Amino acid sequence: MFEDGEKKRIFVEESICNGCHMCEVMCSFVNTQNFYPNKSNVKVINYEWKGRNKPLVSCDVETHAPCQTLPQCVAFCPTGALVWATKDEFATMVYDLHQNIEAKPSYKARAPWTLR
Ligand code: SF4
Ligand code: SF4
Repeated sequence: MFEDGEKKRIFVEESICNGCHMCEVMCSFVNTQNFYPNKSNVKVINYEWKGRNKPLVSCDVETHAPCQTLPQCVAFCPTGALVWATKDEFATMVYDLHQNIEAKPSYKARAPWTLR
């Protein structure tokens, strides 16, 4: 049994979401084998007047076979706003991101953990 801090979950780093909706589209493909965002477990709200976007993920990853190794919404997120990590890993990643984002503005488009 995992302690809460050790279990991997999907986390959201809203500050680097570009609002592209790729996560919604890929999730709908996982669920229906079609590109139909209304059937997605992810909804992205675009707050255009604020220049911010809010991805909302509602998913029990374990029951979706294609996502058990790596959630497909995370795999296809271009900026790294969706993260598959433990609570402790996520806290460290986000801390490092915000420590370095002013020196490396490109992290707003692609977080360091997306660079392969
Ligand atoms: S883990 Fe898979 S099923 Fe769950 S929200 Fe992400 S893409 Fe959709
Ligand atoms: S979470 Fe990622 S894939 Fe989804 S809208 Fe934001 S940037 Fe795009």
